[in-house]
Amino acid sequence: MSHHARNIGPMLASPRCGAKTRCGGACRRPAVRGKKRCRMHGGARASGAPRANQNARKHGLFTGDAIAERRQIQALLGEARKLLAEMK
Ligand SMILES: [Zn+2]
Repeated sequence: MSHHARNIGPMLASPRCGAKTRCGGACRRPAVRGKKRCRMHGGARASGAPRANQNARKHGLFTGDAIAERRQIQALLGEARKLLAEMK
């Protein structure tokens, strides 16, 4: 009979996958290091989109740069309107 206590605390405390299974529950496999999913659910090496993925980009209307530009233009227009109102 072995009295060796196995140190499995860190193993049990590791982040879990959480992908939805066919049964409706969460996966509960250990997630791949540095990812949120296990190797069966998209955590495998080289799975997922590459960095700076542009596949879904159609026109760039909602990129951060375009939004910031529109916001600046609106601010400028607001200032101009205020100035015109003061001149009346
Ligand atoms: Zn999983």
